Amino acid sequence: MRAEGVRFERVVKRFGQVVAVNRLTLHIQPGEFMVLVGPSGCGKTTALRLLAGLEEVTEGDIYIGERRVNDVSPRDRDIAMVFQNYALYPHMRVYDNIAFGLRLRELKGWLWQLTHWGEARAIRQRIDERVRQVAQMLEIESLLHRLPKELSGGQRQRVALARAIVRQPKVFLMDEPLSNLDAKLRDQTRAELKKLQERLGVTTVYVTHDQKEAMTLGTRIAVMKDGVLQQVGTPQEVYHQPANVFVATFIGTPPMNILSVPVVREGGQSAVQLGETRLPLPNNKPTSLPPTVLIGIRPQDIHAGNDAPTDALLSPPLTATVDVIEPQGDRNDVHLVVNGHRLIAQISARVPVQEGQALPIRLNLEHLHLFDPQTEQAIR
Ligand code: ATP
Repeated sequence: MRAEGVRFERVVKRFGQVVAVNRLTLHIQPGEFMVLVGPSGCGKTTALRLLAGLEEVTEGDIYIGERRVNDVSPRDRDIAMVFQNYALYPHMRVYDNIAFGLRLRELKGWLWQLTHWGEARAIRQRIDERVRQVAQMLEIESLLHRLPKELSGGQRQRVALARAIVRQPKVFLMDEPLSNLDAKLRDQTRAELKKLQERLGVTTVYVTHDQKEAMTLGTRIAVMKDGVLQQVGTPQEVYHQPANVFVATFIGTPPMNILSVPVVREGGQSAVQLGETRLPLPNNKPTSLPPTVLIGIRPQDIHAGNDAPTDALLSPPLTATVDVIEPQGDRNDVHLVVNGHRLIAQISARVPVQEGQALPIRLNLEHLHLFDPQTEQAIR
C-alpha cells in the first residue's frame, strides 16, 4: 500500500469561544504509527476529525503527502476510519460489509454494469480477491457468511478493521477503536493491531486517552492538553525525558512524584534539600538553578531494602513513614510520607513493609527530573 505522511501546520479549531485545537504543528512520517493521547477534552478527537475532513479548520493547513487537504471532501482524502462505535451494516453479511465500500467506489450504477458487463465482472472478481485476502489476514475467513449480530465484540472489531484495510487508504484514522472490548481482548487486539500496522506500513493516526495504550502502540506519541501539543516523541523519550510536569505525571503509572524543594549549593555542586537530607544532583544537571525547584521521581526509582539495581546512583537514605500499601503481585505500591511530602514508591514484594512503619528509602538520583516551579517546564 502507498504510505503518505501527514502534516498539521499551525492548525487552530474553534467552536465558538472554545479553542479545541490550538496552533497544532505535527509532522507524521509515512508509515508511522502516531498516537494522539491526552485527557478528556484535550482536543485529540477534534484533531483527528479535522484530518478526516469531518470538521473545518479555523486556521492553518493540513497536508496528506504533498497535498493540502483543507478544502478536500472527506471521501476524496483517501483515508479510512475506525471509530469506537464502528457501525457495521446489520442486515449485511460480513463479506458484504467488507466489500460494500469497494463496490460503491469501483462499480458504477446498474446501467453501466449492464452495458459493461465484462469490465464489471473483472472488477467484482478483483474485489472478491481483496476481501478474501484481508479476511485471511485478520483470521475472519470462517465468519464471512455471518451477520454482525452473530459475532462477538472482538470479531465485529476485526470486521470493522477489515473494512478499513480493504480500501487500501493512504492513512488510517482510529479513534479509541478498542474501547468497547473487555480488558483481555483489548490487550490481544492491540498486539494484533500493532503487528498488522507494521506489516501494512500504512500511516496511522490513533487517538486514545489511555497512556498505556499509547506507549505500547505508538512509533511516536503526541501528548495533548487543553488543545495544545505538549510533547511529541518516541514512548521512550516521552517517558524518560518528559518536557514538563503535565507529561511527567500523565505518562507512567503510578504517576511521577513531584515535590517542591529548595536548592542549595555545596562546593561547586548543586543539591536539593529534602527535609534533613541533602540530595546531590548528578553532573548532568545544570549548575545554575532557581532557589526552589520541582523535583520529579518515578515510583519505580524509589528503593527500599536491597531492591535497587546494583549500578544505580542512590541518594543517602531518607526515613519515610508507610501510610498505605497497595499490593500489585510481585511489587507493592507504597504510599509514603517523607518530611511532610507524600510519595508513592513501587517496591519489590520481597521487601517486607507494614503500614505505620518507618522505612528507609533511597532515590535513584540519575533518574531525578527537575522542573521550573513557575513554568513547570523541564530544566535540562
Ligand atoms: P474525549 O476523550 O472526551 O473525546 P478529546 O480530547 O477527544 O476528548 P475533543 O472531543 O476533541 O476532546 O474536544 C475538545 C474540546 O472541544 C472540548 O472542550 C469539547 O467540549 C469541545 N468540542 C468538541 N466538539 C465540539 C463541538 N462540535 N461543538 C462545541 N464544542 C466542541
